[in-house]
Amino acid sequence: MSIASILGYPRIGRSRELKRALESYWSGQFSAEQLLGEGAQLKAERWRQQQQAGIEHIPSNDFSLYDHVLDAALTVGVVPERFAGIGSSGLELMFAMARGTQGATEVAPLDMTKWFDTNYHYLVPELAAEQTFHLASRKPIDEFLEAKGLGILTRPVILGPVTFLQLAKGPEVGGHNLEFLDRLLPVYAELLGELSRAGASWVQVDEPCLSQDVPVEVLESLEHAYQVLSSAAPELNILLASYFAGMGANLATALGLPVEAIHLDLVRGASDLNPALAQIPEGMGLSLGVVDGHNVWRTDPDRAIGQIQRAVAQLGEERVLVAPSCSLLHVPVSLAGETDLDPEVRSWLAFAEEKLIEVSCLARAGRGIDEVEARLAESRRACAARRGSSRVVNPSVRKRISEITPELLSRPGDGPSRRLFWRRGVSLPPLPTTTIGSFPQVPELRQARARLRRGQIDEAQYEHLMENEIRRVIRFQEEIGLDVLVHGEPERNDMVEYFAEQLGGFVTTRQGWVQSYGSRCAKPPIIFGDVFRPHPITVRWAKFAQSLTERPVKGMLTGPVTILQWSFVRDDLERSETCAQIALALRDEVTDLEDAGINVIQIDEPALREGLPLHRAGQPAYLRWSVDSFRLTAAGAGAQTQIHTHMCYSEFEDVMDAIAELDADVLFIEAARSAMSLLQAFADHGYANEVGPGIYDIHSPLVPSVEEMAERLRRAAEVIPADRLWANPDCGLKTRGWAEVEPSLRNMVGAARLVAAELAAVSSARS
Ligand code: GLN
Ligand code: ZN
Repeated sequence: MSIASILGYPRIGRSRELKRALESYWSGQFSAEQLLGEGAQLKAERWRQQQQAGIEHIPSNDFSLYDHVLDAALTVGVVPERFAGIGSSGLELMFAMARGTQGATEVAPLDMTKWFDTNYHYLVPELAAEQTFHLASRKPIDEFLEAKGLGILTRPVILGPVTFLQLAKGPEVGGHNLEFLDRLLPVYAELLGELSRAGASWVQVDEPCLSQDVPVEVLESLEHAYQVLSSAAPELNILLASYFAGMGANLATALGLPVEAIHLDLVRGASDLNPALAQIPEGMGLSLGVVDGHNVWRTDPDRAIGQIQRAVAQLGEERVLVAPSCSLLHVPVSLAGETDLDPEVRSWLAFAEEKLIEVSCLARAGRGIDEVEARLAESRRACAARRGSSRVVNPSVRKRISEITPELLSRPGDGPSRRLFWRRGVSLPPLPTTTIGSFPQVPELRQARARLRRGQIDEAQYEHLMENEIRRVIRFQEEIGLDVLVHGEPERNDMVEYFAEQLGGFVTTRQGWVQSYGSRCAKPPIIFGDVFRPHPITVRWAKFAQSLTERPVKGMLTGPVTILQWSFVRDDLERSETCAQIALALRDEVTDLEDAGINVIQIDEPALREGLPLHRAGQPAYLRWSVDSFRLTAAGAGAQTQIHTHMCYSEFEDVMDAIAELDADVLFIEAARSAMSLLQAFADHGYANEVGPGIYDIHSPLVPSVEEMAERLRRAAEVIPADRLWANPDCGLKTRGWAEVEPSLRNMVGAARLVAAELAAVSSARS
């Protein structure tokens, strides 16, 4: 029998117990003991459940109270100077690094960024110039012993030293973090020695940098590092794991390392199997990532068993591990709570709990175990039913896709000419003001949705409540003097889920939460079939809002790339094609908004940059189809309509061409923090359309002063001509409270007026 194993498991619990425990601790309702107690219980449940499912290599140290990269930094003593002396307990220091501290000793947290191409965010370790390392936390050893105490021998998971350094922020820009490797390795050696002495026979060392395009120094560092580590703990077997893509050109290096097994992601990198089998050295084990750890689909047993059998035929069962492609951290916990889910679609899915059973059955396939064979047969039936289902392919969608021509992707004229045309119908002052879309999602709005769901109010009552809110925010915006108004998005639970609930081809879940960072979770919708729009989605609200005011109200849409990126996607259709389908559905929405008299439409694409593939080779094609999808949506509008777009949390510099190609009339970007260097990049690029750099940083509860925001605008006007500049916050306001939003927006309008007057004075003095 091959060995059933997993690389990691969701930490949040079936009902997001971790979220509640963390928030209770942060608000002071939970003591440290209570928080740690909840953590211990979650860990114990996970271990027992994996054991019961038949997993033999059960991970430990994959649990974290906040983030596994932060844990890794704390383990090797990478704590920036500014946190010195914080906290009397490890918890206080950990949360200070994760979340910063307020009050008398204000300390900024570590930066947060996305974990490869998942929607999980990790905290970026910071290396100091004189960085030293020591075994500062015993978490990996303690968790191994904790499981051992429960009678379960686990395989501890640690983040490998090379990937750790690659992910960290170095002391100088452009410096080489790998220079720290020789100082870091003794700590890893000590850790492995301790794990071995504690009784571990295997350790899983994650080096996902092997799935990226890396320079040769990285490969050399891996060779050096694993020489050191394998001799440090000769008794301990090392499984070296990489995931999220095939190893490709790095495979030969991985197979040459002195480790006892390597893990391959065979979902994303199926083509690694043949060369791995051809080159694998005598005695090395192979972990086959055949179950998709990154997506929610049930595994096709025949495909997986085919791969397993090939490996077993060559290596023998004892050298083959069966596993998910990556940690199950990135899928929801359990299908058990999904009682409302469309039963047909539900039968096609496997979340983390179901994937445990899949792994276990695949490892035991063909041994005549009735229960195993019955489950595999059920999976075969479900996969066949999905392939043949009439719910998946929609001929009229396919037809429309096949009829897309280049003309459908272009709006009339260019930005500057459309602007002249549009401005004839709408008069705006210099430095016009607007917001990004949402206003505070106050508890009453969320409660109204909950009551509607429970049947305590009916649709008409719900709509009445939303209309009242829209009335209120329109009046407020008129009163403070904003120029282009929004309806405030009160009816939206989430900017993606709201659309997914109304589009064909999607299902949404009740409990399908996935950790985003710390206590934050997202509930991505699932795209199972061709996407279409059965009815208009936003038109009713936009029209209502516009009926209340003479000023322009923006229609507000989430863009196709962002909807795709923040959903679980199909594994039976290219992402580019699904994206085009979403784009067509949204294009109809654009046309309907325009027909309803809306002449400004914003299409948000905050996720455009993050969809960029890990391998450089795939990047140009991605940028092509993602930009085309946006254009397909936007080109539903004529020249009489102004198209706005918004992006945040992006490093724009490397996708500047793509941003320009979106050809949005106005681009609203997050810039209050990274400030105006970004605008310089736009100026250098020759960007000719209008720009709204966020001058109000909505990520902070502070109320920015008129002067502070005016200063940002003045600096923006030095780089971008003032007649192409807008004044706006740098993101939506849904997470903020009215107490801050109201004075902040008043000040923002004040800042725009002030700077506009200054600019007018300068130009009249000149003439
Ligand atoms: N229109 C959305 C809002 O204002 C945009 C959110 C986002 O960029 N993440 O909430
Ligand atoms: Zn934003």
